[in-house]
Amino acid sequence: MKTIEQWIDGGPYHGEPVRRIPVENPATGQIEAELLEASVADVDHAVRVAHRAQLTWRTVSLAKRMDIMFRMRQLVLDHQDELATAIVNEHGKTFSDAIGEIQRGRETLDFACNIAAALKGEISFDVSTGVDVHTLRQPVGVVAGIGPFNFPVMVPMWMHPIAIATGNAFVLKPATPAPTASMIVARLYQEAGLPDGVFNVVAGDKDVVTALLEHPQVDAVSFVGSTPVAKIVQETAMRHGKRVQALGGANNHAIVMPDADLDHAAQHIAAAAFGAAGERCMALPAVIAVGGIADDLAERVRAHAGTYVVGSGFEEKTDLGPVISAAAKERITGLIDDAERRGATIVLDGRGSCVDGFEGGHFLAPTVISKVPLDAPVYTEEIFGPVLTIGEAATYEEAITLVNAQPFGNGAAIFTNDGATARRFKLEVEAGMVGINVPIPTPVAYYSFGGWKNSLLGDTHIHGPEGVRFCTRAKAVTERWPGQTTHAATTSFERES
Ligand code: NAD
Repeated sequence: MKTIEQWIDGGPYHGEPVRRIPVENPATGQIEAELLEASVADVDHAVRVAHRAQLTWRTVSLAKRMDIMFRMRQLVLDHQDELATAIVNEHGKTFSDAIGEIQRGRETLDFACNIAAALKGEISFDVSTGVDVHTLRQPVGVVAGIGPFNFPVMVPMWMHPIAIATGNAFVLKPATPAPTASMIVARLYQEAGLPDGVFNVVAGDKDVVTALLEHPQVDAVSFVGSTPVAKIVQETAMRHGKRVQALGGANNHAIVMPDADLDHAAQHIAAAAFGAAGERCMALPAVIAVGGIADDLAERVRAHAGTYVVGSGFEEKTDLGPVISAAAKERITGLIDDAERRGATIVLDGRGSCVDGFEGGHFLAPTVISKVPLDAPVYTEEIFGPVLTIGEAATYEEAITLVNAQPFGNGAAIFTNDGATARRFKLEVEAGMVGINVPIPTPVAYYSFGGWKNSLLGDTHIHGPEGVRFCTRAKAVTERWPGQTTHAATTSFERES
């Protein structure tokens, strides 16, 4: 049985683990590794190591930091099959989807390779006679990153390349179901020449996160996970005086207008709802069909989704793998059962899916549900499984009211061929990321990623320019060099001229 330790100060660290957490392969139901949960003392050690390393790292030139980022980018490319294998083993998504996740994560490394451009300050000469002002941004210190299970590589990569390239040290707490990729990333940073202690990994759950949030030498906390935990993380981190961004859950909607190309819409909706078995924060679990097209759209989505192959992520023909655990499968199945009891129509039923040779796996096939009562939990809650509900509205106004009634506001999309409706939607919808005929509008890494309402607590989005702002503090310097000018000091708070 493989044992997964911590990674502290440039190498694996055994420490004083408090328990062994089983790591399961969700396609087989087999336990394939044991994760050693860090003790509070181990977390303290990791943060102190990071703090010490950062004092030197922040003085390393931008040129050298960017060299390391370039080497890291190449190493991630060279090792993407190893990373993807770890993701498929522990998460279950398909190998090609895992490669896609790594590519999207690597975009942030691309951005960090040119971090110098993002750190340029502003300068004004002679704001008063002989007085100049310039701005600069400095690292915050130690950044802690806490990740979800569904993107073991990409989501931490939204955080650490920018934190490190801007001169911080980083302590990552990966999600317990999928920890191996983070250990590979730690090894690659070391091969890339990153000094020991600048990137560390501590494993565990609530107690490890709490120890990070309360540690006096952690300066900023970047969290991605479910909304209830995001709220705990934000409150605890703020109580301990830390800068915090906490990205939460989602219940993304798309509106389909009657003028849309319905087959294009159906094909993209099916892919967005069922890819990665619906375990994406930008998945599309809810569609509102406008103007009497719901049955037609449901039938077209069923036709596409009904061809999807459910199975092991390592098989090339597979379109979607298992959900993460037996408990997740039971919860999702329960939500579908409940909708059926409330009178909804099950257009495509994925319950009871079984894959030959993988009888212990947690598989669910795509499920499409129409005529769902608006108070049914399958519609109101984040499903995080391969389930799509198709609702109806008579008009665009009715549809946007339904979308904006959601407590979440991560992504939202519209399918239409009418530019004026699309423009109205992008201005009126209450979501942080908007798609026009694009069902999963995840911004590229040189923009920033983040939702509204319960999908993001705190006000800074992650990666891109907002990521740089989150990982750095601004300074404005006002300077004068006596001797070049003469200016008599006064006790008034005056504007010099
Ligand atoms: P989760 O909230 O259960 O766990 C996230 C992290 O928090 C894990 O590292 C976990 O160990 C830790 N944690 C769990 N309980 C905790 C507690 N009580 N106190 C402190 N830390 C705790 O989320 P998950 O199930 O791993 O991931 C799925 C969720 O993440 C979904 O809700 C999904 O929408 C969300 N997500 C959001 C985004 C986004 O960008 N908004 C991206 C990916 C995933």
